[in-house]
Amino acid sequence: MRLVSVAVAVPGLGPLTYRLPDGVSDPHVGVRLLVPLGKRIVTGICLGAGKTDDGGLTPKPIVDVLDDDAFLPTAVVQLCQWVADYYLCGVGEAIATAMPPRAWIESERCVRITDVGHARLLIEKAGRRAALDALESGKVSSIEALVKKPGVTYTTVSGLERDGLVELTQPLRGAVDASRTVRYARLTAQALDDGARLGPRQTEAVAILRGAPDGVALADLATEGISTDTIERLVRGGLARIDRRRIERDPFNGNGVTEGRRPVDVLTAEQRSALERLRERAQPGRFETVLLHGVTGSGKTELYLRLAQHVCDTGRRVLLMVPEIALTPAAAAIFRAAFGTRVAIQHSALSDGERYDQWHRIRRGEIDVVVGTRSAVFAPLPDIGLVIVDEEHDASYKQEESPRYHGRDVAVVRARMAGALVVLGSATPSMESFANARSGRYTLVSLARRVLDRPLADVHVVDMREQYAMEGPDVVLSAPLREALARRIARREQSIVLLNRRGYATVILCRQCGDTLDCPNCSVSLTVHKSAGRAQCHYCNHSMALPRVCVKCAAPYLELLGFGTERIEQEIRTLLPDARVGRVDRDTVRRRGAITALLSRFAAGDLDVLVGTQMIAKGHDFPRVTLVGVINADVGLGVADFRAAERTFQLLTQVAGRAGRGDLSGEAIVQTLHPSHYSIRHACRQDYVAFYEDELRFRQAMRYPPAVALVNVVVKARTRQDAMHDAAEIASALRVAGFDGYRVLGPAPAPLGKLRGEHRAQLFLKGSHRTKMRAAVAAVVESRAELKRRTIVDVDPMSML
Ligand code: ADP
Ligand code: ZN
Repeated sequence: MRLVSVAVAVPGLGPLTYRLPDGVSDPHVGVRLLVPLGKRIVTGICLGAGKTDDGGLTPKPIVDVLDDDAFLPTAVVQLCQWVADYYLCGVGEAIATAMPPRAWIESERCVRITDVGHARLLIEKAGRRAALDALESGKVSSIEALVKKPGVTYTTVSGLERDGLVELTQPLRGAVDASRTVRYARLTAQALDDGARLGPRQTEAVAILRGAPDGVALADLATEGISTDTIERLVRGGLARIDRRRIERDPFNGNGVTEGRRPVDVLTAEQRSALERLRERAQPGRFETVLLHGVTGSGKTELYLRLAQHVCDTGRRVLLMVPEIALTPAAAAIFRAAFGTRVAIQHSALSDGERYDQWHRIRRGEIDVVVGTRSAVFAPLPDIGLVIVDEEHDASYKQEESPRYHGRDVAVVRARMAGALVVLGSATPSMESFANARSGRYTLVSLARRVLDRPLADVHVVDMREQYAMEGPDVVLSAPLREALARRIARREQSIVLLNRRGYATVILCRQCGDTLDCPNCSVSLTVHKSAGRAQCHYCNHSMALPRVCVKCAAPYLELLGFGTERIEQEIRTLLPDARVGRVDRDTVRRRGAITALLSRFAAGDLDVLVGTQMIAKGHDFPRVTLVGVINADVGLGVADFRAAERTFQLLTQVAGRAGRGDLSGEAIVQTLHPSHYSIRHACRQDYVAFYEDELRFRQAMRYPPAVALVNVVVKARTRQDAMHDAAEIASALRVAGFDGYRVLGPAPAPLGKLRGEHRAQLFLKGSHRTKMRAAVAAVVESRAELKRRTIVDVDPMSML
């Protein structure tokens, strides 16, 4: 008997084994297969096929083989297997992340009313009647839609099936090839010889086609009044041919990535020597990780570009990863300008059609450079010679749902498997990467100066305690910041103002009973969005109209505390009525493309001040910005997370790096209540190494990464007691399991004790043996199926909430 191991996209599920029927040859790794799963038929990916030991159970046979050759390249399948292993998720979940849209064919469970059902329609009652009515109307056919009807449950449907009133069917949905094709008509040789007598419409069609030897799309002919009918008549007469051509949907159009920055002509001496070192390391078959630590504005993008050109010249391909395309359009644009159509782009904001086409172009080998976000690490790019991870410290590389992989770390593994050079670039490297550079695991290449010897911004710290003493506790914009903003308006220069918190106010407090307005589903207070007139939870999106009186005691004495970007925007408009102010946060850029539009208005000089959250701190290059204001540098410091200081340092350094990137020098004003906190002090001096050393001492003392490896286990339950109880059970099982090479801490209620209606408890494993820690967690959780569904295992967590 020959068996095949198959990955299907079901959370938590490992590889499944099926039988290969006689006459079906062994499929390659990466081929799509249709397999039965429970009552459905689903698409899976072949992980390997071969002979077996005889005896034992006989697995079910596969239904069909969809591809002759690997759909997903073997290298990507192997990478997914590594991800499943390392991050403790199902291999199918990892593979689903790597698949393009529309690659899955699945059976949809449908219901049809039978003759018996029809006859009994009027006799049945309640849910059964409702279900039959819905089916009879013909509007509903899938089970999923049917159980949404009031009173109808899965039990209702299976009862009806048992009694013969309905029938379940499973038509397959999806197509093996989902490229967009367009039908073209052109003349045959016979038509060119002429002779045939045609009606007026056909004569006209022939005349048009004669002028277009490459053919004309049927849709275009239709706009000229030539119907498809007419063309088909020509086809029947042997005068024309219709063929299908594949159309590429191009994501570069209309995504704001078209405006390219011109590459510079001459590299600085520092850039040149860095490029030299990088080129030496980009040799075929040689894996190495370089950490490129370059201060903001040191010209890292230019290095990426030239290194990429070098690697492409030697016949290999390049993967460039960026945190978020909309926030870092420069890299994509520069690469597009240099490589033209040999560049593909992969990120989640593309339409399914665009992503599909780009994926298949990469797969066919038509692409030299892939630019993309986190999931682009799985791009089906052959012959990779270079992987670049720009802004490698950025938290958006970590996926916060299963598979909980870190795009940067998977990129390093992919490069290792491919024998390629990987370059991790940042002005503020993550603690992990810098520790690896210090230990010699990564090679450190530094750019210490800005290009053209532009100075880094001058940073002034404003101690808000002094401001409160002078102006009272309500001051939001300090006097120095107000003056600096006004000066910029007078000089027609631009400013950026950062506050990493959106909304108008953070808390609604009743001054009579002291109650705050909290989210019913999460343990946080609701944020006030004034222009929308609503109070909203930033975790579950629960929202309600802003109350006028306290919901507890009905007193009308409601006070708004704390502030967010919406309030800052208003303060600046009041202070500087002539200034053109824009705001970038998740409230103003909901719509696709809205952020690109706002940023390009700012770049074009149509706005004077840009207020925003961390979205504006990333790698933008606005040469006319000479002032950066940070409203409350401490926002991130209060968070119950061991990375709080690191995040604060990164954010402040990055945002200060936005000032003074053109010919004009820059200034940053940082408002804080903790001017002596080391993350704020070092950020103001832009002294990365000093920060790293202070922070490392803290991590070593507290036993946090990079001093140890960490696994975070969160258990969700209906009540707090249940969550704590179940987490305690896991913790004690882990303590018994081995207790070897790791320590178990907890359980304790998670910092967000309640989230989306579920109570959460957490525990940690700390140690130096990831393999042992993973094995222990897997063993404990695997044996408790029900608990496993409610348990999140996060290996190398980025967020502790
Ligand atoms: P980083 O990513 O390191 O912050 P960028 O790559 O965005 O820096 O470069 C900052 C600015 O300096 C850009 O406007 C870029 O065009 C310019 N630049 C880079 N290299 C040079 C150079 N060698 N000569 C002149 N300008 C340069
Ligand atoms: Zn909530």
